[in-house]
Amino acid sequence: MSDKPEKLITDDGLRLDGRHADEIRPMKIEIGVLSRADGSCYLEWGRNKILVGVFGPREVHPRRSQRADTAVIRYKYNMASFSTEDRARPGPSRRSIEISKVSREAFEPVIMAELFPKTAIDIFVEILQADAGTRTAAINASSIALADAGIPMKGLVTSCAFGKVDGQIVLDLNKDEDNYGEADFPVAMTQDGEITLLQMDGNLTPDEIRKGFELVKKGCKEILEIQQAVLRKKFETPVEETESEA
Ligand code: ADP
Repeated sequence: MSDKPEKLITDDGLRLDGRHADEIRPMKIEIGVLSRADGSCYLEWGRNKILVGVFGPREVHPRRSQRADTAVIRYKYNMASFSTEDRARPGPSRRSIEISKVSREAFEPVIMAELFPKTAIDIFVEILQADAGTRTAAINASSIALADAGIPMKGLVTSCAFGKVDGQIVLDLNKDEDNYGEADFPVAMTQDGEITLLQMDGNLTPDEIRKGFELVKKGCKEILEIQQAVLRKKFETPVEETESEA
């Protein structure tokens, strides 16, 4: 872990990576990067690098996991052992099981699973490089991968965290801010602003939470625009053009 910086917010009000309090890190998205998946997405957000593959709706194994009235949604978040500064221990951990559960729940209100009874929709998340905010980054990437797979959804899910750093409420914490800040508050929401994930680590006053929510709404709006632009670009491209590229 890097040493604690003397200050996380400089005298001119900027964060150590040059961002203002209400700015998200730069985001880059590639869609359809895995040929064996039904839908996929590679996303970079700041120094986070994340790959998501979506498979399904497909037959459920084991069969006893089937549900007669709906598809089961399965979300698996995994950190590559080389994704962090100190080697992350391979295999499931309490943290990855928790993140998988809350992320699946973040999608349940939008995925129209009832259209595909007895099947499974699998979302596999691989964190290749982690720099704080991997669960939110993975949700943003999963939204795109689900759309790429053609899974019917009521809308996209977007996700972003706010936190408290040097006593200030800021959007989208980086690693130093996450390590040495006072609070981290990841949120996910639907296009209509319905909250589908909300977690809190640290202490915040009701006023700070209100202020943080204003920032998160702004962040999610920006992310939604990026997601929509990527999807529009892919699905508005004439078929002949995509075929000639293959
Ligand atoms: P998130 O990545 O969603 O912010 P956390 O707040 O749990 O989730 O983790 C913050 C950051 O701490 C991660 O993005 C990663 O950089 C680092 N981290 C998390 N788990 C581990 C681990 N097992 N080993 C090393 N670093 C980790």
